[in-house]
This record gives sequence, structure tokens and C-alpha cells, in this order.
Amino acid sequence: MKYTKRFFASSPYLLSILHKDGIKKQFMSPSDKIKKQKFNDPLNEASFAKAKGLIHRYPDRVVLTVTNRCFGYCKFCFRKKNWFDFEGFDFEGAIDYLKQHTQIREVLISGGDPFFLNNAELEKILAAVRGIEHIEVIRIGTRVLSTNPMRINKETLSLLKKYKPIWIAIHINHPDELTLEFEQTVKDTVDSGIPVVSQTVLLKDINDNSEILKKLFCRLVYLGVKPYYLFGCDAATGNEKFRVSIEKALSVMDSLRGNVSGLCVPTFAFDLPNGGGKIVLEPQKLIKREKNRYKFVNFEHTEYDYEDI
Ligand SMILES: *Cc1c(COP(=O)(O)O)cnc(C)c1O
Repeated sequence: MKYTKRFFASSPYLLSILHKDGIKKQFMSPSDKIKKQKFNDPLNEASFAKAKGLIHRYPDRVVLTVTNRCFGYCKFCFRKKNWFDFEGFDFEGAIDYLKQHTQIREVLISGGDPFFLNNAELEKILAAVRGIEHIEVIRIGTRVLSTNPMRINKETLSLLKKYKPIWIAIHINHPDELTLEFEQTVKDTVDSGIPVVSQTVLLKDINDNSEILKKLFCRLVYLGVKPYYLFGCDAATGNEKFRVSIEKALSVMDSLRGNVSGLCVPTFAFDLPNGGGKIVLEPQKLIKREKNRYKFVNFEHTEYDYEDI
């Protein structure tokens, strides 16, 4: 039987900015209802789960989904399935798996939002992962700077500093998320010696526009954040109205590359269905090749010949 229920969570902070257009369109709000239906697993993560909450898809790194909870729920979330039927995180099983697989050198702590855990819960995971000799880097994927930046306070930062090298990958999609509180938290994090990169989802009628993205990426660089990925929106249940074509995505990328500092340009990537993994695409610059003679088109759309060795 189908029924709808309200699905909403927020922090006082997110509530205070939820009226802004660039925020409202992204997050579930109090009036949003969601059909309890069969949600898909667009990246087929289930088939790469080696323990509950451990996804091992690529040779040298794994993802830990340590919680299914967030301070705000994105309408285009690709792990919506976990909103309703999260299997949980098997801490012991995950740590055992990491110990046994010496090719793993990076652990991504994700979710949900890892900062939904309290510091004691987070420290238990960080300490165990850092205790494994072959794990070099810890990466935390989080939305918290946009949903509840106050969660990253002095205490949190001194906790993170104990387990360096830690990289933080923040999820941010729109300049409306760049509040004073956001910017202060980024500054405190970077000042603690924790590198911050950003991940942005390309979203129809929200940020699928080069002026909005330029503003976002250039401000992030100003704050000390390297824009890392611009992601195509995954075909998760309910995401139809947010998805942008690859052609449009590449035209947005084309208007960035060369026109703004290379620091401000992320890599465009999207995930193949059935667990095929990430595909990275750049606008096509090579227009012709005959043996070692190439023809390219530059960022100003002018054609140039290039004779290779
Ligand atoms: C995206 C992703 C990663 C990380 O890939 P990077 O290119 O290193 O950012 C790792 N595991 C899974 C399952 C992923 O989807």
C-alpha cells in the first residue's frame, strides 16, 4: 500500500536560511511529503558492500557510510534508499576488512553526514582507522558546512587534528550557501591545517548556469577550498526533475575552462549505472587528427593546428 509521510530534518541554522531560493529548492522542507516507495540504488553500491556500511569499488580507497542521518535531506540524494532502510554500520566488520586489505590507502567517511555522529562516536572511528598502518589518508565527506556549520567548533577541529592527514570534502551547490557562518567555519578549518575540497551536483534550475557556478567556485577558492568534482545528478528515484544532460554539463564546463582561473574549475564526473563507476569528461577540444597533425579549438573557440612529435 502506498502512503505518504513527511520527511524533514533541519538544524536551527538551516531553518534560518531555508527561505533562500538556492536553498529551498535543494532541501526537503516541512511541507514536503515523500511517498514511501521502492527507492533504487543507482550506483549499485549494495553489490560492492564488503561489510554493512563499507563500499569497496576502487582499488585503493573505500567508503564508509557511518550513518544514514543528515542535518537536512537533499531532494536529489542518491542514497535516498538509506533514508528508510539503512542496514547500519558494522564498525567491527569494517575495521577488520580494512586491516585485511593492505591495498587500501584511503578511507572516505561518509553517510548520511558523518558529523551527525557525536565527537565520541566519530573519534572511535577515526582512531580505529588511523590505527591501521597502511591507511594513509582519511577523507570526510560532509554537507555540514551548509546545514549546520556550528557543528565544526573548536572541539571538533582539535579532534580532527589528532588524526591528520584528514581531508574534508564539502558538498555545496549554490552561492546562497555561502553565509558568514559557512565562511567562518571554512576559515577555521583551513587554519587548523585541514585541507578542504568541494563537491557540487549540477542541478536543473538551481545551478545549471555558468554565472552561478563561477561565483560559487571562485568564492570557494578565495576561501581556500579547491573545487574538486562537479557531479552529474544520479538517476535516483525522484531525481528526474533535477537532472541535466551531459551536453549541457559540458557546455557549462566549457564556459569555465580558460575563462576563470584553473583553480576554480572542478572536474566534471558522473556515475555509470549498475556500478560502472565514475566517468570523467572534458569538453572536446580535439577536432581533427591526421597522424601527428592535430587541430584543436581553444577556449575562445578559435582553431589552431598543432604538430606533434
Ligand atoms: C566517488 C567514490 C569514491 C572516491 O573517488 P575519488 O575519485 O577518489 O574521489 C570512492 N568510492 C566510491 C564508491 C565512490 O563512489
